Amino acid sequence: MKSRLTPAICVFWMIQPWLLAGLLVGLLRWLMPGSALSDNPGALLLLAGALAMVLSIWLGLRLSRGLAHLAQASHALAQGRVEQRAPSDLSAPLHAVAEQLNQLARTMGQTQEHHNRLMQQSTTRLKAEHTRLQTLNNEMRAALLQTQAAAESQSALFANLSHELRTPLTGILGYADLLRRSALDPEQEQYLDTLDKSARGLLTMINDLLDWSRIESGRLRLNEERFDIHEVVENVTTLLAPLAYQKDLELVRIVYHDVPRWLSGDAQRLRQILTNLLSNAIKFTEVGEVVVRIMQGDADERHVWLDFSVQDTGVGISEAVQARLFQPFQQAGHSQGGSGLGLSISRRLAEMMGGEITLQSEPKKGSIFKARLPFRSAGRADDPPPDWRMRGSKVWLLEPHPTARLALTHWLSFWGVEVISFDSPQGLAERLEIAQGLPTLVIVGFHTDEIESLHPVLKRCGDRKPPLLALVASASLDIQLRLRALGAAACVPKSIDHQALLQVLVDLSTQTASQRPLARRRALIADNNLSNLRYLALLAVELGLEVLEARDGEQALALYREHRVEFVLLDARMPRLDGPGCARAIRESATEGSQPRIVAISAHLEPDERRAFLDAGADQILLKPFDERQLLNALLPAPARQATPSSRLLGKDPEMLSLLREELPLQRAELDSAFAADALDVARDAAHQLRGTAAFYHLGHLREATNALEERLRLVAATDDARPECEAVHRAIATALTEIDARLAELAD
Ligand code: ADP
Repeated sequence: MKSRLTPAICVFWMIQPWLLAGLLVGLLRWLMPGSALSDNPGALLLLAGALAMVLSIWLGLRLSRGLAHLAQASHALAQGRVEQRAPSDLSAPLHAVAEQLNQLARTMGQTQEHHNRLMQQSTTRLKAEHTRLQTLNNEMRAALLQTQAAAESQSALFANLSHELRTPLTGILGYADLLRRSALDPEQEQYLDTLDKSARGLLTMINDLLDWSRIESGRLRLNEERFDIHEVVENVTTLLAPLAYQKDLELVRIVYHDVPRWLSGDAQRLRQILTNLLSNAIKFTEVGEVVVRIMQGDADERHVWLDFSVQDTGVGISEAVQARLFQPFQQAGHSQGGSGLGLSISRRLAEMMGGEITLQSEPKKGSIFKARLPFRSAGRADDPPPDWRMRGSKVWLLEPHPTARLALTHWLSFWGVEVISFDSPQGLAERLEIAQGLPTLVIVGFHTDEIESLHPVLKRCGDRKPPLLALVASASLDIQLRLRALGAAACVPKSIDHQALLQVLVDLSTQTASQRPLARRRALIADNNLSNLRYLALLAVELGLEVLEARDGEQALALYREHRVEFVLLDARMPRLDGPGCARAIRESATEGSQPRIVAISAHLEPDERRAFLDAGADQILLKPFDERQLLNALLPAPARQATPSSRLLGKDPEMLSLLREELPLQRAELDSAFAADALDVARDAAHQLRGTAAFYHLGHLREATNALEERLRLVAATDDARPECEAVHRAIATALTEIDARLAELAD
């Protein structure tokens, strides 16, 4: 309606001055008829034009003022000043526009007010939310601090508890070890084994818990040291090999030759990771193989990345379980005890080192655990070059297991040996039969149940031509003895470390049958501990002796009376008739011209016991542990040794003192390197050796210190825990060396 009116208003507005002017002229003619003006249409037109102009100007001015007001009002509106209004006294058409504008301003004002109200409400709500979040944040921070404090006190509690638990446990282990040295029947031995196994399992669990709490509380620190990667891997595999062999599993270790030998990093933690992965692989595999591989991954200017993989053909792990396996205390359905912490610890250690552990597995097919870890290369210019002592020699290798064959061929080629491999005994036996030139050595690797199939090969290698080295997947000394009796020149476990293997190869390739020093002579060995007995028998066979075995003194005496052997090796403590008693009885029963050589054997003898043994007729006392060479020296003493003065006089013999002066630092170095490598068994042996030396030379302090160290090493799980005792041994050695130097100086004067 308004829009239709607007053009009419405009037209009216335009003609309005003319209408007014016309009206005015009409008015003048009516008021003044006959006047000159009313009769003059030109003047009238002029007047009307002038009036219309004046009116137009006046109207124009009014209009523009009104428009300016409207423009001002709309400008204010555009800027959001909704309170400003257009004036209401404008002329009609502008008044309508002003009204519209004012209406718009009012509506906008209301909308703005509504928005402001909404904004205010939102701001209030946001402020409340912010305050709530802040409070929550503060509460969470307080809770976190509380949790941290709780975790710290929990880890301290763990540490204390673990210590408290470890002390009695190591006591149990120590007493079990002491018990083992006494005469036990097979049933008691079995009980003792179970007790020992349970206590060791518990100790491992406690150590795991302690490690985990150290990791969780951030107290576990990594060390950096230079180490030999072969040594670490071989330590771990050698230690766990008996477990694999017990289950008839093939355990293969492959370290590829591009892996740098000397590295810098935390060797102890690497050992821990590998031990966990490997022991799990053996634990959860019943048939087949476990393969440990080490390959070089990427290398940048700072790191050498190594890829470790432990692959088994065991039960495997389903995908659902894999997802949570690295969480603490998680086990798959097939767990066999254990803390459920091993994998979590391993993964966290790997992450702390900057690496990772991943898993591929399929149920019933097996698993591959892979650890990718960074180390620093630590080779030095003075590192020993490759050992070429076997270079150019020819080895025929029989190893039915392809991965084990590959691993062995790898090493042999590295040493410059020419290898021809066979995968069946028949193939090798035929080749031995028809070959023109024989190899330097024959190496056969096999499982215990395959011995029968080896007979043809062993027969061809009779009389040690060529010498046959047997690598057995068995910890059993019986098997080793059987193989030696069948003609193998040497027999070593498959897990043997590469240095020792090389040494065996060198020895075999340079030694011939006629060099066996006690060939075709007979010995009687008596020891109530079966494993000691087997070990002794093996050493004796190694020297060429034919061996009779006895488990107690009475049996030994009976065997001697029957066979009249040339050598007798007697353990000191035996049931029914002890070592000295047996020695005396043998001396009495032997005729003047056929007295045997009697060697007493013991891990430790007090001076009184030593004297009792010698008085009973023993020719020499040999302290365990000893090797083939020491046994030979005891059985066939060199003339100088025969004239060895009694130990009481040793202190006055400059030659013996000089020998001791040289020996002590060597034995100390052995002990130190065992500690550095955290090799408990080696450390125990080294301590034992030192104790023997100390006892022999009447070094009271040193004997006490080594005694304490040896006892301690039996109880602890890591050499580090026996550091104080080791330091005491160091001090005792230092004192002994000073005394020896003083004594030598005195004797020189
Ligand atoms: P545990 O002390 O129980 O062995 P781990 O953390 O080392 O703790 O292992 C956790 C679980 O993972 C084991 O109990 C076992 O169920 C599973 N597992 C680990 N390694 C293997 C493997 N090689 N094959 C099959 N299952 C495995």
